[in-house]
Amino acid sequence: MPRYNLEGQVAIVTGAGRGIGRAIALRLAREGCPVTVADLDGETATQVADEVRDLGGQALPLQVDVTRNEEVQHMVHQTSEELGSLRILVNNAGIGAIATLLETDEETWDALMNVNAKSVLLCSQAAARQMIKQGGGGRIINNASGAGKIAPGKGMPLGAYAASKHAVVALTKQMGLELSDHGILVNCVCAGIVDTPMWDLIDRETAAQQGVPVGSVKAQAVAGVPLGRIQQPEDVANLVAFLASDDASYMTGQTYNVSGGLLPY
Ligand code: NAD
Repeated sequence: MPRYNLEGQVAIVTGAGRGIGRAIALRLAREGCPVTVADLDGETATQVADEVRDLGGQALPLQVDVTRNEEVQHMVHQTSEELGSLRILVNNAGIGAIATLLETDEETWDALMNVNAKSVLLCSQAAARQMIKQGGGGRIINNASGAGKIAPGKGMPLGAYAASKHAVVALTKQMGLELSDHGILVNCVCAGIVDTPMWDLIDRETAAQQGVPVGSVKAQAVAGVPLGRIQQPEDVANLVAFLASDDASYMTGQTYNVSGGLLPY
């Protein structure tokens, strides 16, 4: 059952081929949004678009590298051509990398900053220009992370990832101000320990570095979650759907936690 009145509100979700992005695409489709399922992996994008159609929704699968400006421009153009006026952009695509800051090489730093931070700028610029041309405003929702607000921790070698996610929070704050005259509301979500392939990677690689059993890093992280369970991608999608809705029409430039109580502020 749809909760919000998003019928016909065209959305783009990046990194929507799996994990949190997939859950967001499916949730927005259930709310009535025609949705562009954009992912670096064209095969998974097609699979999720099929899932949207199975729900009775409208979907456009696109293989897109969000770090490449020409592909981003194409994504926005194709969406407008095939689905109609663009109203919602969800900047979700992201990557992780496990290394202490002392061991982070330039290649890793550049990859994290490009995929996690630069893409938010490029996709938001392209989408906002389209929304301004159309008139009538829009929504940009960025998927940062708890690591966008706090240090991941002494035993969690995610420093460069955290720097890239802090950048997403900063982009959200300033973009919310700059686009306010156009009625384009920009907000950000910060999740905790979400059960996706990304956390499997964090667990595996951190466990290997620390010489502890696979699964133990994740188990220890989840043990610290006040609500006592690992987060599901749908928990994030719930907040994104709300931020896309009319109920969030007086909110912009803000960053909201959905983390089972893990994040203190
Ligand atoms: P995931 O690795 O399961 O999925 C990420 C998706 O992004 C993949 O389908 C991948 O192909 C796609 N992608 C990667 N690089 C891309 C690129 N250059 N262009 C287009 N698509 C690209 O990750 P997830 O856990 O679902 O994470 C989604 C977002 O949520 C990320 O931004 C991540 O940083 C953030 N996040 C995750 C967690 C977590 O615990 N898993 C917590 C907080 C925030």
